Amino acid sequence: MSGLVDEIFQVFREYGSGQYLGEAVSMTEHMLQSAYAAERDGAAPTLVTAALLHDYGHFIHDLPEDAAEHGIDTRHEEVAHAFLSEHFGPEVAEPIRLHVAAKRYLCAVDPSYLGELSPASVHSLDLQGGPYSPAEVAEFEASPYANDAVRLRRYDDAGKVAGLRTPDLEHYRPDLEAARRT
Ligand code: FE
Repeated sequence: MSGLVDEIFQVFREYGSGQYLGEAVSMTEHMLQSAYAAERDGAAPTLVTAALLHDYGHFIHDLPEDAAEHGIDTRHEEVAHAFLSEHFGPEVAEPIRLHVAAKRYLCAVDPSYLGELSPASVHSLDLQGGPYSPAEVAEFEASPYANDAVRLRRYDDAGKVAGLRTPDLEHYRPDLEAARRT
């Protein structure tokens, strides 16, 4: 059971200490802060797991770390989904796949949301295609995972606080084990 979680945590240790591009936290700090926000919100183990792993695609894609600065969208949400959907159910993998879509959705339906985004997130929004059109909004809302994707997006946005103390990776092992596809 623990082989997969050990492998995931090892990837965090190898790739997670780099800066989360344009933010004042490392990738691992960002993902731990997102999981911590989910935990404090009373989210189910599957959604806490999604929050912890939502940017896993940044660790395992093979493009340079500063791709966004060169105008390249790494499609990290699809990279993460391709790997994680092999090991976790859609309650984990789908909100992750939709977490960029949720940003584009929120920019379209919540006028105040754009103002809450970090400058780096505003920059990547352009690369990701900008706010959704009304037709795209309707399509997004039709997904059974739209609500969890929006919740995950809020945890993602909350996970950029320099110096915030959080539980460590091992604290989330039980959530990952509970969320695993059996
Ligand atoms: Fe993120």
